[in-house]
Amino acid sequence: MPTAHPSGWAHADGALRGPHWLREPADPNALVAHLWSRTTTKSGGVLSVGGVPLPDLVREHGSPAYVLDEADFRARAVAFRDAFADFDVYYAGKAFLCTTVARWLADDGLSLDVCSGGELTVAERAGFPMARVGFHGNNKTLAELERAVELGVGRVIVDSFDEVERLAAVTTELGRTTGVMVRVTAGVEAHTHEYIATAHEDQKFGFSIASGDALEAVRRVHAAPGLRLLGLHSHIGSQIFDTSGFEVAARRVLALHAQVGTELGVAMPEMDLGGGFGIAYTTQDDPSEPEALAAGITAIVEHECRALGIARPRLSIEPGRAVVGPSMCTVYEVGTVKEVALDGGARRSYVSVDGGMSDNIRTALYDADYSATLASRASEAGPSLARVVGKHCEAGDIVVKDEFLPGDVRPGDLVAVPGTGAYCRSMASNYNHALRPPVIGVRDGKTFTVLRRETVADLLATDVGVQ
Ligand SMILES: *Cc1c(COP(=O)(O)O)cnc(C)c1O
Repeated sequence: MPTAHPSGWAHADGALRGPHWLREPADPNALVAHLWSRTTTKSGGVLSVGGVPLPDLVREHGSPAYVLDEADFRARAVAFRDAFADFDVYYAGKAFLCTTVARWLADDGLSLDVCSGGELTVAERAGFPMARVGFHGNNKTLAELERAVELGVGRVIVDSFDEVERLAAVTTELGRTTGVMVRVTAGVEAHTHEYIATAHEDQKFGFSIASGDALEAVRRVHAAPGLRLLGLHSHIGSQIFDTSGFEVAARRVLALHAQVGTELGVAMPEMDLGGGFGIAYTTQDDPSEPEALAAGITAIVEHECRALGIARPRLSIEPGRAVVGPSMCTVYEVGTVKEVALDGGARRSYVSVDGGMSDNIRTALYDADYSATLASRASEAGPSLARVVGKHCEAGDIVVKDEFLPGDVRPGDLVAVPGTGAYCRSMASNYNHALRPPVIGVRDGKTFTVLRRETVADLLATDVGVQ
């Protein structure tokens, strides 16, 4: 029986096992390739992305920095587009959005989801075709709805009766129409390796199918002259590794889709099954490829449509994390190293880096797992259990809970963390008045700035001065 370890790791036979490694790796320098963007290499201990050695990138752009592998991002986006060839693929902009990425997506033929006026503004600034934009959110303001209708977004995903009324009024006032999808709650919830087919509906998103609210919302959208009813929308969660969760959700949503046909006499042309496709954060994660997801989801929908005797609606999906997550890593410089003794005799070093929860809140917020590697030099030292922590005034300011790094990691070393493309920069904060790091693109041995590093002037820009 392994004994529980204070780190959450099990400790048996003198070996530490945990969510990232099942046993101590023989070589703590080795690159676990599937956690990194596809142009990432390690040679002589130096990590390179897009042909750019990270020590060179840091010399030029400073540290910490998010490193965005253009080839990898675009390859993942195109892989979803091609695998889901007869679907519309909406990239979920909330995972990471800036004008450069919006332009790549536009050029590569994907659609885009936004969920705030700010994200809509980025899409507009990038010249993203508005007919391919979907607008999400459970509490869009009147101004946001007006802007979306004026710009002619392809679809607004409505989430409450209040919003149906408000959006209908906006279209009347502007003399315009808009495509609408109705977000429903299928009572299925997916979260990291598990899904629950009987999730309670006690959450803020969507209209409940079970209560009849979803059907009522469809009725009201259909009745509003300015609203063009496109179909139902369901998003079941995040970090989903196979299609079993989609199976239950699709069955329930298609049953409602069919019911709308029989009871309201309306054949809705579309259906959206949301995003949430998982990525590998640790050696233990084994995500499905887009082809397998597409085949699985298509088979489920076709089977259900046959059983219900209805035509298959045009489907869409909304991957965010699975496109951008693996295409970025974060590079940090080590400032201090401290060793502590753990119960059971093991030791752990606290490797403090020049960023932290301000550039990656996911570990503190979701107990997320990440990995790390020494990025700037070769080391002969054996593996040592390390925790990569930030520089903020919080004990929970942890970037990587547990990783085996070479035992001689020291100040001045660079450490890189893979899989930080999704929800790290977009949830970054100025906590402790930290300057948010830049996003540096890499391509064919060259760097380009996508988002520049914040400056002290940015930090003080909203402080109007002593009153
Ligand atoms: C967050 C979200 C997504 C994207 O989720 P990922 O886990 O990043 O793929 C897609 N659709 C909706 C409605 C969302 O809220």
